[in-house]
Amino acid sequence: MSLATGSTFGGNVEDEDWRFAAKCKNTAAPDIFYSYDAVDIRKAKQECNACPVRSECLNFAFKTLQDFGVWGGLSARERRKVKRKQLQGRLL
Ligand code: SF4
Repeated sequence: MSLATGSTFGGNVEDEDWRFAAKCKNTAAPDIFYSYDAVDIRKAKQECNACPVRSECLNFAFKTLQDFGVWGGLSARERRKVKRKQLQGRLL
């Protein structure tokens, strides 16, 4: 995700207060959160590991169907995997 880019999210503004505590809000390298480079993705995930609003961020990414970037410590690929498992669980 890139809180540092100042991008606007959809959804309820009241639900987005967590963004003020985001560790990546003032990061020096916001691009790593939207990079396809494995090293960048790993660095972004390391920032997420120390973020106090990681779960809120991840929930927001699922709720708003974020297809790109690192959110809540998970890459887009990892989020798709979680989503697939959730869907499979519902179908079984
Ligand atoms: S979990 Fe990661 S992407 Fe989400 S707000 Fe925190 S640092 Fe940013």
